[in-house]
Amino acid sequence: METINISAQKEKIQQVWKKRPLIISGPCSAETEDQTIETIVGLSKLGKVDVVRAGIWKPRTRPGSFEGIGTKGLPWLQKAKELTGLPMAVEVATPKQVEDALHFGIDILWIGARTTVNPFSVQDVADALRGVDVPVLIKNPINPDLELWTGAVERIDRAGIKDIGLIHRGFASYGNTEYRNAPMWHLAIEMKLRYPELPFINDPSHISGRRDILLNVAQKAIDLDYDGLIVETHCNPDKAWSDAKQQITPEQFGKMLDEIIWRKEDKANIDHQTLEKYRQQINHLDDELTQLLAQRMKIADKIGEYKKANGLTILQTNRWNEILEKAIVKGEKAGLSKEFVTKYFDAVHMESIAHQTKVMND
Ligand code: PEP
Ligand code: MN
Repeated sequence: METINISAQKEKIQQVWKKRPLIISGPCSAETEDQTIETIVGLSKLGKVDVVRAGIWKPRTRPGSFEGIGTKGLPWLQKAKELTGLPMAVEVATPKQVEDALHFGIDILWIGARTTVNPFSVQDVADALRGVDVPVLIKNPINPDLELWTGAVERIDRAGIKDIGLIHRGFASYGNTEYRNAPMWHLAIEMKLRYPELPFINDPSHISGRRDILLNVAQKAIDLDYDGLIVETHCNPDKAWSDAKQQITPEQFGKMLDEIIWRKEDKANIDHQTLEKYRQQINHLDDELTQLLAQRMKIADKIGEYKKANGLTILQTNRWNEILEKAIVKGEKAGLSKEFVTKYFDAVHMESIAHQTKVMND
């Protein structure tokens, strides 16, 4: 009987894992049995949540704050699962936590940002997972290092885990910014391109660190074709023992899900010809830009030869600042942001310097 139940549950998790968008929600931490059950039952009533998240062990950056209720909270999740039928996900950082979570029938595990940074810890978790059939979500490391994130994927993959997913929760940065953890979307997208087959989930809660921009961050993720969201919810957010500022009630989460414009990478019933026409125009312009840049670099080579013959330096700061200032003014008139023009011209300048350096040293 037990084996039939387990395989039926595994089958269900497989279905859930494929669902798009995949919606994961629950408290930052399981605090008490009542708070855990009330929050999860509230989420279940929405009928829109696929997986419940709840922190049982909380790695906190500084000591002295709530570090999780521990194994004692796992039966509460078991009870919540019985009540709602929803699969449960928890964060694990040590072999013992993996063992306990699996013992209490937790369906999905995740590796937190403070664990992904540490290859020894990730390897310990991976070793504990050998031979186990459970999906594992891997959060980005605290610091903006895609190699650490990739390394964690490789370690979990080599342990034989079939279902791996990625969670983008933003990157720590120094000083006060709009975000608790800077999203650095370009980095996340690079990771998504490295692993196009893995579910790519956005965590607007830990990126935002506050309620008022949760929807914006989530919408941006959906616009960028993320596969799902993981959002922290609490029956009484202001009284939460961890991450109070960023949690919302299940009802507020329901509203947020209604407000998101759900976009898809492709749809069967739309006019593909129009999109195709625009894409061809873009391809054509990109080809032209490449040709123009190549021409520009040929001229840089000639300048390099001239500078070499006349003993002049490659870098001419004043000349470059002049070029950049003019380009920013022209760009803004043409509808290009100062940020883009600066980045673009810096990249062109670097390539030009590389060409001239080569000519000088030939
Ligand atoms: C969490 O999900 O509650 C958590 C601790 O997140 P992160 O690992 O992203 O900081
Ligand atoms: Mn949290």
